[in-house]
Amino acid sequence: MMAWRIISDIVPTTDNLRQWRVPTDQTCILCDPAPESTYHLMECPFAVGVWRAAALPCRLPHQNIGSLKEWALTVVQNSKRADFECVLMLLWAIWTARNSKLRCETPSPDPRRVMIGGKTPYG
Ligand SMILES: [Zn+2]
Repeated sequence: MMAWRIISDIVPTTDNLRQWRVPTDQTCILCDPAPESTYHLMECPFAVGVWRAAALPCRLPHQNIGSLKEWALTVVQNSKRADFECVLMLLWAIWTARNSKLRCETPSPDPRRVMIGGKTPYG
């Protein structure tokens, strides 16, 4: 589901919500002053903490990528299937942590705990 949303560019981040004319706060709930966008899910300091904690064996693109969709396509072309599946689970874990904080269920998610939950489907 997350992969389909990424490829279809319909992840309901604040930039997409604004484009769909849904009133919303534009800042990232995980790192506050930065504006949230689909691509910010990759460069958000919180997300970077999750990626670093995961220590993935594949290299993740960091620069000159215009969108999360392009980023994901670059990863799928340059990594093993198992690594890409791990990237998708981590993206899902980051997205879930973001939504949990948005709903005030988790005041300050810990990137390391989010990484552990993302690497194991039942974690
Ligand atoms: Zn952020």
